[in-house]
Amino acid sequence: MKRPRYVLTPICVLVIACLPAAARSSQPTAPPPAAAPVTERFLDRLERLTPADPISYFRLGEEVADAAADPASMALARELLVLAFHLDLAAGGQAGVAAPACLALAEAQRGGRDRAWLLALAKTLDPRRVAPEWLTRPVAPTADSAAYQVAMFLGLVRSGDGAQARQLLARPGVREGLYAYNRVLRELGLPGGAEALEREAGRWPCPECAGARIVRRPGPGGGEVRLCSNCRGDPGPRLAPGELEAHLRFESWALQGVQRSWAAQAAVDAGAPLLDPDPASVAPAFGVDPSRTLWRNGAWTSPQPAAPSLPQGDPAPPASAAPAIPPSGSG
Ligand SMILES: [Zn+2]
Repeated sequence: MKRPRYVLTPICVLVIACLPAAARSSQPTAPPPAAAPVTERFLDRLERLTPADPISYFRLGEEVADAAADPASMALARELLVLAFHLDLAAGGQAGVAAPACLALAEAQRGGRDRAWLLALAKTLDPRRVAPEWLTRPVAPTADSAAYQVAMFLGLVRSGDGAQARQLLARPGVREGLYAYNRVLRELGLPGGAEALEREAGRWPCPECAGARIVRRPGPGGGEVRLCSNCRGDPGPRLAPGELEAHLRFESWALQGVQRSWAAQAAVDAGAPLLDPDPASVAPAFGVDPSRTLWRNGAWTSPQPAAPSLPQGDPAPPASAAPAIPPSGSG
């Protein structure tokens, strides 16, 4: 494992995936040997796999992925990588292939939550494998930066200053910035994300008091002043439980305050917010039975269960000793 092969996998997979069409058009004659089913081409190595050697599963998985040109090959590659992952974890991670296997599986995903989840899992297993998201987050905000302006926008929406919020949103780049943070906003606990915030900005100021919080009614003695019945003196959206925290987490994260919110950081890290990186869920997610580790007769099978172990300390029974037979009639 001097060279981390998994780095090359996505490129190789892409190249291989593009090959068949070109190959068919330029060489319509005899099918290449590669046309043999992948399980036949790699049969010898498949049958030599043993659970004690997770690295061999990982290497073979990488090679099959490199050569994969059909769904069956990709499935076999995934099975090998998942088994490498589980076998390595079961052995305490000594082979060091659990995180790379996770990354290789992530590369095979076309995106979405599964990929983010696998990357989060790989980082949990080995933080050196995946750069922390905070290394790639926006540079320290200035008054002109999108992060700062979006944080300002949230504050204005929250206080019911809709007119100012809309003015801010109309500035170049601010609306784009808001929607660029849409996923982060949702994952931090604002289910409506950028759209809901923009909608709220359009709802305020208060249509009844225009943000004054009070309403004056003319009348004798200077008239009557009463609390606005629409906003009840507290303009701004009614925040559901947890939403204020979500606002503050976002602002803390976006402004990179020294009082950095670990919750915000944890939620934003690795593009896999609030995903539970549970190693035990990898095999079910890929439909692989991690107990079937041996390739026999074209399918994965479980190793033969070991002979029942004798109670510790007992000497081996003599060959003539018959197993204990319960007395007849018992039970
Ligand atoms: Zn009002």
